[in-house]
Amino acid sequence: MTRSERGKVLVSACLLGQPVRYDGRASGHPDLLVRWQAEGRVVPLCPEVAGGLPTPRPPAEILGGQGIQVLDDHTQVITLIGEDVSAAFLDGAEQALALVRRHGIEVAVLKSGSPSCGNRLTYDGTFSGTKVPGEGVVAALLRREGVQVFSELELEQARLALE
Ligand code: SF4
Repeated sequence: MTRSERGKVLVSACLLGQPVRYDGRASGHPDLLVRWQAEGRVVPLCPEVAGGLPTPRPPAEILGGQGIQVLDDHTQVITLIGEDVSAAFLDGAEQALALVRRHGIEVAVLKSGSPSCGNRLTYDGTFSGTKVPGEGVVAALLRREGVQVFSELELEQARLALE
């Protein structure tokens, strides 16, 4: 890691105003993330798109809601139309890990609720809108690798971790 790469943060691309969500929309662009981008500290990634899924795409959920179980091949990620997209989610998570290692990243800001990014909460796999405590596939993998993971609801904690 070079000196110029210190303090970089991996961020869900939809939190940077990029229209990469399943419905073709973004998830906002908080001021702190705008500032970090201007400072060259942000490494953006949409793991679902990186894993080869199109935008827009059918919504997907983890059966049971736990990304760690997808990583360990104990459950699947299924779309609303019944397609198994686990391989694409795992591919995207591996790309997130590769970026973290390449840039020496120690902090990530990942969208809460997503079955892929999914810090703190995920949907339970019933497509009923029910959220459960847990992590998406990327949050689970990065945390297992020692990355400090925050959501868009924890930006102040992420700032403190970075500085
Ligand atoms: Fe946003 Fe992550 Fe979902 Fe992509 S996979 S749309 S970056 S929450």
